[in-house]
Amino acid sequence: RAPEHIRAISPYVPGKPIGELAREMGLDEAKIVKLASNENPLGMSPKARAAMEAALDGLALYPDGNGFALKHALAAKLGVSTDSLVLGNGSNDVLELAARAFIPAGASAVFAQHAFAVYPLAVQGVGGRCVEVPARFFGHDLAAMADAIDVDTRIVFIANPNNPTGTFLPGPVIEDFLARVPTDVLVLLDEAYNEYLPPELRYDSVSWIKRFPNLLISRTFSKIYGLAGLRMGYAVAHPTVADLINRVRQPFNANSLALAAAEGALSDDEFLERSFETNRAGMAQLIRGFDALNLQHIPSVANFLTFRVGDGAGVNRRLLQRGVIVRPVGNYGMPEWLRVTIGLPVENERFLEALAEALKG
Ligand code: PMP
Repeated sequence: RAPEHIRAISPYVPGKPIGELAREMGLDEAKIVKLASNENPLGMSPKARAAMEAALDGLALYPDGNGFALKHALAAKLGVSTDSLVLGNGSNDVLELAARAFIPAGASAVFAQHAFAVYPLAVQGVGGRCVEVPARFFGHDLAAMADAIDVDTRIVFIANPNNPTGTFLPGPVIEDFLARVPTDVLVLLDEAYNEYLPPELRYDSVSWIKRFPNLLISRTFSKIYGLAGLRMGYAVAHPTVADLINRVRQPFNANSLALAAAEGALSDDEFLERSFETNRAGMAQLIRGFDALNLQHIPSVANFLTFRVGDGAGVNRRLLQRGVIVRPVGNYGMPEWLRVTIGLPVENERFLEALAEALKG
């Protein structure tokens, strides 16, 4: 019999495969527009593809369990030593590893209302207690989160930008928060969408690690780098924290293709720039569309927008009937809202057309 804290977990419900959904809805699979999982609509960098092709011959062997080449590339890019890095099977892996390393059964973690759904899963999975702090204008209320920390708190999760709201905390505000948090509480700063930040909002969180050894930054290759299917994420932290997390990971948690592809992706600044520009233009296109339809949206600095339709489930169903897949966020306590990933211009257009029809009921 599984323990009560496991039985109490509400499962994460992933979207259905496109083929399956097309069959169910009687639609042509090729015509489906999927803007549901914050993936890169440009796909992946050609350098990532080439690196993976070159790695195919090595697949009979175990991966490099220390990720030597990728860690060196990341260390050079970030200006840290390789012992500050942890590689994960997606950044979700990093979140879970942090919970495993830092939360003993019965201790707790603090996160915001409407924050990323994997935080409670990671915490509950190790028998931890979740302390959810009410959001402010859909974003994190850091003052209230600091007040919520008590002797049981072992991790505070901050998603910047947050998913599914796209909300953002300026760098100096996070620095002030770090200065308030007791040094024995880990602050996990989840920056899955960091590379989408407009230049004027960027901040150098990695440089804070020297001052705040209880800071752990998680990032991913799933979003702007376009490698979601490979599962590759990483953490940057003080070497002492990185060492503890490395102790609880599986020795080969990052696979050979993912290691190779990530290294290739990291070397392609041109692709990164093109992805950024596609997102910036697509964001403007969708905002114009929402304005024309008189729909409220939450200002976002990520690669998705969350907008208010009233009957989220109903509008979602009618979008599906028109072959457009977005993400309902009822499970985030936002049943009146839907989240759409910013796609290619034609995909955004198809989505807006379908939305105009779906809103009519
Ligand atoms: N953090 C946030 C805020 C996310 O939105 C996501 C992806 N949905 C992740 C982490 C995890 O992404 P991955 O495991 O693919 O790196």
